Formats: sequence, C-alpha cells, structure tokens
Amino acid sequence: MKMYNFNSGPAILPAEVLQQAAEAVIDFNHIGLSILEIGHRTEWFVNVLEEARSLVKELMQLDDSYEVLYLQGGATQQFMQVPMNLLDEKATAAYCDNGIWGAKAIKEAKLFGNVHIACSSKDREHTYIPRELSVPQDSAYLHYTTNNTVEGTQWNFIPEANVPLVADMSSDIFSREMPFSKYSLIYAGAQKNAGAAGATIVVVKKDILGKVSRAIPSILNYSNHIEAKSLMNTPSVFAVYVSLLTLRWIKKEGGLPEMERRAQERADLFYDTLDSLDAFMGKVDKRDRSLMNATFTTQNPEHEKLFLDICKNNGMVGVKGYRTVGGLRVSMYNSLPLSSVQVLCDLMKDFNEKHG
Ligand SMILES: *Cc1c(COP(=O)(O)O)cnc(C)c1O
Repeated sequence: MKMYNFNSGPAILPAEVLQQAAEAVIDFNHIGLSILEIGHRTEWFVNVLEEARSLVKELMQLDDSYEVLYLQGGATQQFMQVPMNLLDEKATAAYCDNGIWGAKAIKEAKLFGNVHIACSSKDREHTYIPRELSVPQDSAYLHYTTNNTVEGTQWNFIPEANVPLVADMSSDIFSREMPFSKYSLIYAGAQKNAGAAGATIVVVKKDILGKVSRAIPSILNYSNHIEAKSLMNTPSVFAVYVSLLTLRWIKKEGGLPEMERRAQERADLFYDTLDSLDAFMGKVDKRDRSLMNATFTTQNPEHEKLFLDICKNNGMVGVKGYRTVGGLRVSMYNSLPLSSVQVLCDLMKDFNEKHG
C-alpha cells in the first residue's frame, strides 16, 4: 500500500509523474532508448531541458531579462555560488538569519565578503519572521529564505530593500503566486516542490552578473552556464526530466494560483485541527506559519514517541521533526492530497480523545 507521505525532501511527487518517469526509464518517448541512456546533447534531451527552462519562466511570469539554469550541487552549493558570483571581497551583502538553512548561507557568504545581518529571529529559536530589517544601502544584495523548512515559518510578505533581492525558495517554490520579477536571483533544490533530487533550479536576472573582480572557476560561473544554455557539462539528465514532468503537472493542474489554493486548504485543515486539540501545540507564531512545513509538538513530551508510533502504524512517513531540532513536523508540498492531511487530522483527534 502506498504510504501517506509527509517527507520534507526528497518529498512526495504526483502519481502520474512517477508513472511517466518510470516509463521513460524503460523507453523514453517510444524512441527505443531509456532516458538514462541518451546523450545530453541529443535533440531529445535538449528539448527536455529547453521545455523545463521555459516552463519555469512561464510559471513565474518572467521576461527575457531572466535566465533559468538547471545546475547540480543542491541548494547548498548555491550558498557559496551566490556570493562567489555576486559579492566582491570588500563589499557587503545583507542576510536574514531566520533558520538553519539561512545560517548555512551566511557562513558561506563570509568566505567571500562582508555579511551584514539584516534581521534575526535567533532570540526566539526562529519561531517567527521579523518585521524590521536593516539593509545597508550599498549592500550587493539581500538574501533570505522564503520558507524555513526546518523551523516551519514562512515569509508572507516580501522584505523591503532597495538592493537586489536573492532568495532560497527550496521548500516553497511553485507553491504560491509571487511577484517573481522583484527578485534578482532565486534558487531551489528540485526535490521538494519541483522534481527529484539532483537538479537545482537557479533563476537569475542577467544584469546582476559580471560585477565582481575575483576569478570564478568556470563551472561555478553563472555567466558560463547561461552562455552554454545549462549544458556546460552533463546535467542530471533524469532529475531534469522528472522536474519537467513536475512542471507540466503544475501547469496542467492550474499553475501557481491553484497550487496556492491547495496549499492554503491543506494548511487551514491542519492548523485548525492543531489549534482545536489540547494534546498538541504549534511551535511558531501563528501569523508566520508555513503553508508547506508545519512544526508542532505534543503537549506532554512523553507522548511524542507514542504519536510517532501511531503515525507509523497507520502508514504515515515523515512526521518526525528535523534531526537537530526534534519535535514533530509534517511537510505538505504541492502534490500532497488533502485527503492525506484529513487522515492525519483524524489520527490527531483520536489521540487527543485518548491522551488530551
Ligand atoms: C532542503 C533545503 C536546502 C538544502 O537543499 P540541498 O538541495 O539538499 O542542498 C536549502 N535550503 C532550504 C530552504 C531547504 O529547504
């Protein structure tokens, strides 16, 4: 039996995407070859890559001043690749310090230039999104994480700054409508909302490139990837294909407005249930709750393991909190059916009856 999948990443994919991906492993588009055994410079794969790149732009409603790249190394590589390409040695970049992933980005940026902390939620264990930001006028850019996957907070507004905006959207990309043209660079590992692990999407506005004085290794230089149309070397062919299938699915289902409607519906069901039960409590400020990753705990700490066992016995996976943070967390990405959230909520209500 298929499990209820609340994994944080790699995460749930639409059933039809898995079916199509499986078929392509045996026979890609009826060409008599597997997707795994075609050359990356063949017309077959170039078409896959070009369609994926243009679908990203279409879903985000971006014009030709932007380029979409499929790179490797995950979002984690972007923590260093962003400052390497955008931050000069003596210059300053502003960073929001709102969680584990943002902190990792800050650590890497410090290897390349100065980092100014524009805001921090460290004082309350990153359980909220700060409203006040300080961004020096001469910052090369402002970096923030739109959705804090581990902590369960999400920015539901765009930070004000008169400098280029850079965002790690790994865990909420393609889950809601946003004015994407306000950003100069957006990156995301594909394995949460945009496909399979191994592909990293980078959306970059061309006019921010070419301004740093350091020598950038060829493979890490965004400009080279743009020039090579994301084919500098062998891309993660299969992961790019799964990403294309996922993007086609998003478009077919109604695009970002529909993804947002579903996310809101799932989150409302989950959080309303959570707030109605004494046995559980949320971990973050209500107004900053993530629509993608909900973090919570049992009122009685000793009940946590019991609840996790119940989830497991009922075919649920991914309910445990991040390894260094603990507690409970459920991830509710684009393709998670509302019915899975309903099953979880019913279990929580049942647990509340017995242990609340
Ligand atoms: C998962 C995640 C990452 C790390 O992604 P990798 O692709 O594993 O490097 C970075 N940032 C955010 C917000 C994430 O959710």
